[in-house]
Amino acid sequence: MSNDKDKIKKQDVLLGIKHGRTLSQILFLGLTVWVAYRMLSGVRGATIEKYCPFGGVETLFPWLNKTGTLCSLSTMNISVLAGVLLITLLYKRAFCSHICPVGALSEWIALIGRRYIIKSRRVPSKVDRPLKWLKYPVLALIVWGTVRVGELIFREVDPYYVLFTLGRGHGIAEGVIGIGGYSLVIILILFGLNVVLPLAFCKYLCPMAACLNPLSRIGLIRVRRNPDTCIDCRRCDVTCQWGVKVSDVGSVGSAECSNCQDCVRSCPVPDTLTLSFGRSRS
Ligand code: SF4
Ligand code: SF4
Repeated sequence: MSNDKDKIKKQDVLLGIKHGRTLSQILFLGLTVWVAYRMLSGVRGATIEKYCPFGGVETLFPWLNKTGTLCSLSTMNISVLAGVLLITLLYKRAFCSHICPVGALSEWIALIGRRYIIKSRRVPSKVDRPLKWLKYPVLALIVWGTVRVGELIFREVDPYYVLFTLGRGHGIAEGVIGIGGYSLVIILILFGLNVVLPLAFCKYLCPMAACLNPLSRIGLIRVRRNPDTCIDCRRCDVTCQWGVKVSDVGSVGSAECSNCQDCVRSCPVPDTLTLSFGRSRS
């Protein structure tokens, strides 16, 4: 009887995490939409770029070189970046699953795709793994190009900026690459891709993810598996949208883990997957 009660309590906690995560995603998405609305309405000083941690990456080198921050970016972006790096050090890529509005929309589109369009869309790991490396040259190219040109060259194809400004943000139409109004179409296709290839941008192309991964690998709060109670059903592996193999490890060290807790909820054996502090049993 008390065992049943414990189980129910544990489920409540997990549901709370799930709902807490969704609430957090809705909150940050709502804030982004609100700031974007003010920006597009011409409210002075309102810009969604101000809160972008990747803006901190783009403007870090000019700022360190004492040549000032780029375009509409400021030291606020560097502070936001520092905050996100700290979160990652503690809680792995929780930024992707709890805060990033691009991550939230991608996840929800992928969910609709899984429910109503294509039920099973696992990318084979021999394809998934090499594709995940793509984001590093993307990051290097953006940082190199930005420093060289002294302009935000990524802005024209940045899903965050293009989507929330409806392709009408500063610098898109008259940008360096010059793709102008096509930006929005490209970004909408990229979001649509989530139906067949869940989290495609987040997993394979996102330069912010590439920045976070080294710290995410260290990430102190992580999912742990108890091999003594694990029945090797591999449900956790199938559930993980980020392509992490949970059933092979003692503690999830993969840099790609966003601490979404989907694997924990999917595990049929109570207390086999738990979230805890520390790096042992990897
Ligand atoms: S879902 Fe749970 S029991 Fe199944 S393989 Fe993963 S950890 Fe083991
Ligand atoms: S399902 Fe588990 S392993 Fe995969 S990202 Fe979420 S918490 Fe990490």
